[in-house]
Amino acid sequence: MTSSARPLLNRRLAEFGTTVFAEMSALALSTGAINLGQGFPDTDGPEEVREAAVRALRDGRGNQYPPGLGIPELRTAVAAHQRRRYGLSVDPDTEVLVTAGATEAIAAALLALVEPGDEVIALEPYYDSYAASIAMAGGTRVPVTLRPGDGRFRLDLDELRDAVTDRTRLLLINTPHNPTGTVLTREELAQIAALAVERDLLVVTDEVYEHLVFDDAEHVPLATLPGMRERTVTISSAGKTFSFTGWKVGWVTGSPELVTAVRSAKQYLTYVSAGPFQYAVAEALALPESYFTGLRDDLQRKRDLLGDGLRAAGFETYMPRGTYFITTDITPLGEKDAHAFCRALPERCGVVAIPNSVFYDDPGVSRSHVRFAFCKRDDVLDEAANRLQRMAP
Ligand code: PMP
Ligand code: GLN
Repeated sequence: MTSSARPLLNRRLAEFGTTVFAEMSALALSTGAINLGQGFPDTDGPEEVREAAVRALRDGRGNQYPPGLGIPELRTAVAAHQRRRYGLSVDPDTEVLVTAGATEAIAAALLALVEPGDEVIALEPYYDSYAASIAMAGGTRVPVTLRPGDGRFRLDLDELRDAVTDRTRLLLINTPHNPTGTVLTREELAQIAALAVERDLLVVTDEVYEHLVFDDAEHVPLATLPGMRERTVTISSAGKTFSFTGWKVGWVTGSPELVTAVRSAKQYLTYVSAGPFQYAVAEALALPESYFTGLRDDLQRKRDLLGDGLRAAGFETYMPRGTYFITTDITPLGEKDAHAFCRALPERCGVVAIPNSVFYDDPGVSRSHVRFAFCKRDDVLDEAANRLQRMAP
């Protein structure tokens, strides 16, 4: 403690306490509840990828500082992935930057591109690091809220258009979207792209769930749309795609100018990270297509398993077309306040979930919404559903 009356935490960060994910995972640990809060799989990714990391460690690859841009093998693998999957041509030497997870990529992009006072438009509800990163960059957050309709959360493109002012610097887009599970359609993305071009905005697009897309939904990278390549910073990560969230290997792709700018900030955040894991992720990105479809099919089945359980327990569900998460409404259970509900849930029935209100500037908008993660073993999801059923009115 200092004796001065001045608060320790600076003004930019004063509104941010402990992230809800840490808080809820700690609650799960201390109560022994099933953790459907923080989005991490309870089963590790492919054995051969884990082995590739062990091999790299043993062979002494990546045990000392890797190159600032990331190891060439990983940058080449990212470029090959973008070409194979999306027809995007990316130069591994100038248009790829490896980061400490997508989280660092988001922070570095905002720190590099936002001038204090610039407005940053983010889709709300938003992943909690967005608000903190915008604040650290001195930017002003301007939320555009996705609203429920026809069983999913939708973007109102007129609202997005109206949110742009002369001070808007960039659009921070996330598709597939955490926490709603919305996958923006090609038409929606085309309109976002047209707006960005018309108003000369930069776009930072968080596509960490690019491979977790269900039913007939399609993930369309914004950078593939006309006029977007030169103004878009695309972010992804190995955490979700390969079920190794603890490795924190992410990457940025974009024009040489954008990647150089993001690197300027990134080099003073971590400089580099995760040396041996970078080798393993390079191998992972080259896995056959069957790996990616298998992951998706498995998660889609888990989504349905948990969705059925939640509906049987009386929740209203917004079935996601992507990501790890189902957003529910607790109103049919006779409940109104998701925050109080989530705090009591571990004691009431041994399950942890996240109140969606933490992803909003105005928590009132989603007072009765609760997010459950389904990236868990089937027996865990079954047990969670059984426990939740005990609460049915
Ligand atoms: N963006 C979104 C939308 C997320 O849900 C997450 C959390 N997994 C991240 C970024 C962070 O990714 P990473 O763990 O690679 O930092
Ligand atoms: N992205 C994960 C989620 O939304 C959590 C990541 C984190 O804890 N920072 O649950």
